[in-house]
Amino acid sequence: MKVRLALLYVLSAFFASVIIVLAVLNFKKTEEVVKENEEEEINFESNHTIQLYRSEKGQIEEIDLNNYLFCVVASEMPFKYEYEAIKAQVVVARTYLFNKILNNVEEQGDVCDDYRHCQAFNEVDKLEEIWKNKGFSVAQIQEGEKKIRKAILETENQIITYNGQIINALFHASSPQRTEDARAIWSCEDIPYLKSVENVEDLDYENRESEEIVPYSVFKEALISKGYIDDLTLKDFCNICISEYTDSGRVKNISVGTYKISAEDLRGIFNLNSTNFKLKVDENNITFDVLGYGHGVGMSQVGANTYARQGKTYDEIIHHYYTDVDIVDGFKLQMKRGEL
Ligand SMILES: [Zn+2]
Repeated sequence: MKVRLALLYVLSAFFASVIIVLAVLNFKKTEEVVKENEEEEINFESNHTIQLYRSEKGQIEEIDLNNYLFCVVASEMPFKYEYEAIKAQVVVARTYLFNKILNNVEEQGDVCDDYRHCQAFNEVDKLEEIWKNKGFSVAQIQEGEKKIRKAILETENQIITYNGQIINALFHASSPQRTEDARAIWSCEDIPYLKSVENVEDLDYENRESEEIVPYSVFKEALISKGYIDDLTLKDFCNICISEYTDSGRVKNISVGTYKISAEDLRGIFNLNSTNFKLKVDENNITFDVLGYGHGVGMSQVGANTYARQGKTYDEIIHHYYTDVDIVDGFKLQMKRGEL
């Protein structure tokens, strides 16, 4: 019995020391990871800051350029997208920012955090919360963050120009088959680098197809209250049709009685995912069967991911979506402002 007890003590002592050693090793390992992450963060920051207008607080905050790009790219594109697509998004995001700064178009600061006006911007804590809620593990999130940081460093300073001028790097989520010419939907002057181009997109994108059903009364009231029409009889409602398409095959205008309403306006009024739609009308409802997501101009994110999967590099993706452009060092462009 005594021998058994002694053996038990020895074994317990052994296991206890193993646990302590493991715990110490693990602690050291965690310490090393934290140190490594801190070092990575320091190396990740650029030597430049930008003035970011925080729309909710109504304040301007100074933020490191690379940290800003990280938050934008992580907010705008899923990190599970292909690496070359993420790199393309980084160059687009940097170009978008530099364009705002060079042309001094923002009322407050260099750029704002409102996705409806500039680029989407969520802080790291918020992003991590979103990712956790989507079911990503801590390891997956860390890997995703690393991927975005690497893409920012690997394309450091790169921006897109046309004829020596920085471009307005518009992008959208999805436009199956073709992107849109900027002039076709905004009736603006010709923008030579924002032309309609062929677009190949994987079919598994969740918002590829959508349907919006609007009841007669809601449709009528919305258009009257926004001043598009004075009245709409049920007969005219039932005769609503598409009156004009753009060259890329999107809807340009629809006829409502004697009125013509632009599809881009309809997209805003009824929250349609895009202007690439088919119409069905009966006595009760108008139904929009919509393809794609967004205005369709510039780079398609789903398309960028698809081309990256097919082996295209980020610069090939950029040259595909923006016609006749160059990718150059943004800091070598004539800067209007000294501090960037
Ligand atoms: Zn803005």
